[in-house]
Amino acid sequence: MFFLLWAVFSALSLLIVLFFGFSQRATLTQAYKSEAIRELRHKGAQIERAVTSDVPPEFDGNKSMYLRILSTSYDVDIFILSENGTVLFPQFPQMEGEETPELPFDFQEEIILLKAKLSESDTNSVLYESNEEYVYGSKIKQFGEDAYLYVGKSLTLVRATSEEMGSRMVLMAVFIFILAFAVSFAVSGWLTKPLTEMTQKAQRLAQGDFSVDFRGSDYGREMVELADTLNHARDELSKTDKMQKELIANVSHDFKTPLTMIKAYASMILEISGENREKREKHAQVIVDEADRLTSLVTDVLEISKIRSGLEELKFSDVDMSSYTQEILDKFEYLKETQGYRFETEIEEGLFTLGDEVKLGQVLYNLIGNAVNYTGEDKRVFISLKKTSDTVFRFAVRDTGAGISQEELPEIWDRYYRSAKAHKRPVKGTGLGLSIVKTVLERHGFVFGVQSEEGKGSTFYIDFPLLEEKA
Ligand code: ADP
Repeated sequence: MFFLLWAVFSALSLLIVLFFGFSQRATLTQAYKSEAIRELRHKGAQIERAVTSDVPPEFDGNKSMYLRILSTSYDVDIFILSENGTVLFPQFPQMEGEETPELPFDFQEEIILLKAKLSESDTNSVLYESNEEYVYGSKIKQFGEDAYLYVGKSLTLVRATSEEMGSRMVLMAVFIFILAFAVSFAVSGWLTKPLTEMTQKAQRLAQGDFSVDFRGSDYGREMVELADTLNHARDELSKTDKMQKELIANVSHDFKTPLTMIKAYASMILEISGENREKREKHAQVIVDEADRLTSLVTDVLEISKIRSGLEELKFSDVDMSSYTQEILDKFEYLKETQGYRFETEIEEGLFTLGDEVKLGQVLYNLIGNAVNYTGEDKRVFISLKKTSDTVFRFAVRDTGAGISQEELPEIWDRYYRSAKAHKRPVKGTGLGLSIVKTVLERHGFVFGVQSEEGKGSTFYIDFPLLEEKA
């Protein structure tokens, strides 16, 4: 990560530096050239004025001297040419004994080019490139004759300067790149530091250390969000871990109780009640009940781990919830006669949904079973199945029991949560019922919940999507 970031930053800065370096170099060179041409036009015009007007008095009428001074001070070559290309100025030899120097180029040819340029132009003067020079040329009168002024500025000089500027740009680019390289090293380190820290913390978490805190002091907004998410994951993991430990403790405890009872009553039959039929049957019944309890415990534990692990696929089909609810209620029928429970039902006919029939049966059975277990002294349980809109119908089971406190409400769906409160009647549940309900309904994607008021009772409900074609 660190090296990747570093490489990316460096490559990016290299690209930027190269791009700017080259484009600046091109524009700078161009700008310098245009400036040189502008300057030549200006100097050319001034020289032209000087050539065609009177020589200033300090030169004592020596025009040649005047022009030579101009040439040096303006850093340009000045030539005055006749119609056929003869050099009128400077005249050679300039001093006694001086040899005629070789002219820098052939003015016979140059004059043809200059004339051509002037005839193409509407103005009296032209600017063009020739013989490695920028040339300012114009037609003038000299001693009453037609003549031509040639002012040249060496291109080599202009090129050398702009090349010098270009290489400075390249040097600067290299310097900037080295700087960017170093800065990106620092920035990459700074950016990856929180990630490295988080990785180390995550490793600690993986080893079971739930005390790690992913938040750090110098994290940016995204890092803080990531840290919060990781902290949330840590909390959930720690909760799951705690619950798993509790589950194992509780399950082993609950497995042990019936086993102890079974063993105790079996011994009793062997040693004491063997001959006494009445006692023997009573004791044998306890063994059967405890074995049943053990069976349902094992079934629930298996069930929940199967659904949770996602090993078991849901088998979807059209389910007639109206008759199915009635069918499940019938299983509780015996409670009416033996224990005086009263079931008050309000079930609309023909309500279908799409779901796993067996699993939904378990859900209803658990919810009704809980209502029976936790209802009040009046032993009343209310069950309803009604349409609540065009697309939804609701199953609700209400009891008149002690209800569930607000703090406990979110907890009851968790695996193996059991209210700390003493129950009015011995509770047979395994503490896994609501966890199964939650897992099954979540996997179906159904909306469900509980409303409860302490002292008045609870209502558990499920909203089933209505299967249209059956409606
Ligand atoms: P249990 O086997 O203990 O009933 P459940 O998972 O079915 O396990 O329920 C978890 C806990 O939720 C129960 O122990 C009880 O505290 C609470 N609970 C469930 N249903 C009701 C109800 N109808 N009224 C009051 N409390 C309930």
